[in-house]
Amino acid sequence: LRGVVALDGPSGTGKTTVARKLAANLGAGFLDTGAMYRVVTLAALEADVDPADAAEVASLAERLRLDIATDPSAPGARLDGADVGESIRTARVDAAVSAVSAVPEVRELLVRRQRAIIAETVERVGGIVVDGRDIGTVVAPDAPLKVFLTASSEVRAARRGAQDTAAGRPVDQAAVLASVRRRDELDSSRATSPLRAADDAVELDTSELSIEQVLTALTELAGH
Ligand code: C5P
Repeated sequence: LRGVVALDGPSGTGKTTVARKLAANLGAGFLDTGAMYRVVTLAALEADVDPADAAEVASLAERLRLDIATDPSAPGARLDGADVGESIRTARVDAAVSAVSAVPEVRELLVRRQRAIIAETVERVGGIVVDGRDIGTVVAPDAPLKVFLTASSEVRAARRGAQDTAAGRPVDQAAVLASVRRRDELDSSRATSPLRAADDAVELDTSELSIEQVLTALTELAGH
């Protein structure tokens, strides 16, 4: 793969799984930008900072050390050196991450980091698959391939619930659906970089598709 594949869409579309597999198949790097917003959110929760307190969250984001892996075979996230790959996926982080990601200073900081990681990875391995909400619109608007994945909220909540079950976390399916819908609403209505498809993005509804089918479609779009 040469250059950037921008993969955007709401949660539960299979984005992260597909992005990672696509990157591995194409010998490219992989960046899960949602994990970066989750690390900042976890840091706020751990420091007892109210996720809605924009000034406090912004100042915390400036101070913390965030490391994110770009190898699709070994994804990972670190907060001040500690492995937080698991603890950023809890319902508590889910519930607070939209507030944190709506803080303009946090977005500015993370977008800057993301662009630096993208440039460095493209330089090193030639290409990168980047998964998020604003990759095609803000982070990498020049990406040659932009894909916007969608799926019904029921399907997305079912996938999210299955992930939790697989990870051994207890699941209340109605609560998961409510959380998915709430996050969609918040992510789509925020003032800074709301979730939306870029004008030149290919939209793909994954409601009826397996991960393998989505992967096949993306591999074709990437010209492989
Ligand atoms: O993709 P994931 O569900 O891990 O993202 C968690 C949250 O991070 C999203 O609900 C959204 O609020 C935020 N996010 C964002 N911009 C991105 C990626 C994620 O605002 N590029």
